[in-house]
Amino acid sequence: MYKWVTNSVVMAENEHGSNIYCISLSDELVFIDAGMLNEYTLKFREAMEVYYGKEASTLFITHAHIDHIRAMNAFSDCEIVAAEAARPRFNAHMAIDFNEERLSRMEGVFPYIREGVQDGEFLEPTKWVDANYIYKGVGFNVHGGHSACSSSVFIPDENCVALGDLVQSERQPYFGESDTDINAWIGALDAWEGSDIAHVFPGHGPPVERDYLGGVSGYFRDLTESLRSLRTENIPEEEVHLNEYLPSGYWPEDSPRKSAHYYSIRRLYASL
Ligand SMILES: [Zn+2]
Repeated sequence: MYKWVTNSVVMAENEHGSNIYCISLSDELVFIDAGMLNEYTLKFREAMEVYYGKEASTLFITHAHIDHIRAMNAFSDCEIVAAEAARPRFNAHMAIDFNEERLSRMEGVFPYIREGVQDGEFLEPTKWVDANYIYKGVGFNVHGGHSACSSSVFIPDENCVALGDLVQSERQPYFGESDTDINAWIGALDAWEGSDIAHVFPGHGPPVERDYLGGVSGYFRDLTESLRSLRTENIPEEEVHLNEYLPSGYWPEDSPRKSAHYYSIRRLYASL
């Protein structure tokens, strides 16, 4: 499903992988994230090229989690921009042997992993960014947070920013990686909340407005504080995610409960 979120930004929201965004610049298209299924991503790219009468030049990667990059070979002829901090993850992805055992293990988290593996291919980015990079007015900033390579893509002409999985809207967020850094995450959200951007494009879920960021950072602050106090009571790690003193989240009450979210809470607890 394609959705025009501003005059020049189109979102492809799908259940296979991450959101994908297309930004129409004066004479080319740039994309943010590649999703999971090559066929779907390629179709989106082609539809945008026909609609705007412009060709894709660049793919920005908000972070190197598989559901955001497996279909990146749909942009094999483009400049591919990623954080330098993503390099170890790209190397690890390229070395994965997707054998049956691994696929059935991954399927619980990524239901479309088999199709993704079939059509998609990991490629080495062509442009590694340490901290900041600007391409034709579009800003790429490395923040860390959700992962060490979490980055934003700022589109000043439309007064909006894509934040990858720093914002996972209307759902229980995942924050359980070994390189997840809650403080860096909160810092990135605070910085964007203090800016004058209007729209925020999440890695998963529908676009939101700037004031949504305070709900996300507030949740992480409250959660960290609650987990710290539960620590002093020696609540066992295996059950901490169900504790009644944990804050309610910023997502709708009827959102499906996610085991990846509970896992994230236990990981954060263990790290405090
Ligand atoms: Zn992610």
